[in-house]
Amino acid sequence: MHTERNHDRYFSSELLDWYDVNKRDLPWRRSRDPYHIWVSEIMLQQTRVDTVIPYFHRFIERFPTIEALADAPEDDVLKCWEGLGYYSRARNLQSAARQITEQYGGVMPSGKEEVAGLKGVGPYTAGAIRSIAFNIPAAAVDGNVMRVLSRYFLIEDDIMKIKTRTRMEELVLTLVPEGRASDFTQALMELGALICTPKSPKCLVCPVMEHCAGRLEGKEESLPVKTKAKPPRPEHRLAAIVEGTGVHEGKILIRKRPASGLLAGMWELPHIEVTSGASAVSTKGATEQSGLSAVSTKGGTVASDTASVHSKAVAERSEVTTVPSETVMVPSNVAVPSEKAAVIRLTDGLLAEGVPVRPIGHYMDAEHTFSHIQWKMSVYRCVWQEEPESLSGLQAAESAAAYEAGETNDFRWIDAGDMERYAFPNVFIRILSSYFSKMDGAGSR
Ligand code: SF4
Repeated sequence: MHTERNHDRYFSSELLDWYDVNKRDLPWRRSRDPYHIWVSEIMLQQTRVDTVIPYFHRFIERFPTIEALADAPEDDVLKCWEGLGYYSRARNLQSAARQITEQYGGVMPSGKEEVAGLKGVGPYTAGAIRSIAFNIPAAAVDGNVMRVLSRYFLIEDDIMKIKTRTRMEELVLTLVPEGRASDFTQALMELGALICTPKSPKCLVCPVMEHCAGRLEGKEESLPVKTKAKPPRPEHRLAAIVEGTGVHEGKILIRKRPASGLLAGMWELPHIEVTSGASAVSTKGATEQSGLSAVSTKGGTVASDTASVHSKAVAERSEVTTVPSETVMVPSNVAVPSEKAAVIRLTDGLLAEGVPVRPIGHYMDAEHTFSHIQWKMSVYRCVWQEEPESLSGLQAAESAAAYEAGETNDFRWIDAGDMERYAFPNVFIRILSSYFSKMDGAGSR
């Protein structure tokens, strides 16, 4: 590792000279407003700059101040974030805005403890906010920065290890030139984004190539050392496009996810998880062991034999005519239930949630990858069963009342125009957009 003082000074001064001339004109660089810096840094986590720019403009226009963000309904914040993914970032941003409003009078603090204490602000973001917005020497070390430092200083430690990150944070603090913490942090990020890229670094035009130890050793392509993360666990899911009838003709049913957990508070098509290998179906708050006991529901218990009898009858009555699949991505490495089994499982699973439906055909397959899981989704067109034979009198009455009301706590009937009012994860935007555009094109609604 080359940490000679002259090489350190060379690195910092060449980097800043290059940045002064080559920095990109990004909207959050047009001011030192800590709120803008904070929002941009949260949006840029796991997301490319080009993608973030229009979201940043919309977000700042809709929530121009920390107080405006704190006061907004959560649904509005999620809608503004729709399509950007990692929605806990948006919810944490709003929680932190409320913290700042309550504890700091709506003014972003600059102290290390105070900034690090904000919801959703980790060591990297705290360092970025403090250095970029307040020009305080603070380390903002993310994957990009660790890549640059690993290469320039020939650091061959695993960057997935916490002690490597700590070491790099200490190193950065020794490199920050007096009075230029803000520019230095951004210059380091800029070099990683534009020149010292993950693949094929552009060493020949790099401002620090002369003393880059990684390049001099021919190791620029093999650094940084990084252990592979575990691949996301695949989950097969069956989703329903439930088409309304009567007063809900032309609409489909959506439901709101719980207030905590994955994609909390967002809207989606009703769907169930199918774990084929274990012969189990799990639904929101319910699991069914295949061939065993009972299906737990929100409102009580439905004997599994009743549900199964119902769905077998449905499967037999439903002529499952497969609509030509419009495949976004085809599920591949998960055991997928047969068409008939899928219909039975979907019918049973949704009935257990008080959503009586009759599948009428496979519509499409879709896939969505989170950091730790990968949804592989088979989507079926379904019709609402106005009088499902196997529902108890109470369930039927509850379902009918909810249906007549058009909405319950968790469900809504929507048409294409309503898409603007609800925040959906990307996978459901793709499915719904496909469905509504096809319906519109067919002129059937
Ligand atoms: S010379 Fe190459 S490897 Fe070294 S910092 Fe520059 S781009 Fe990265």
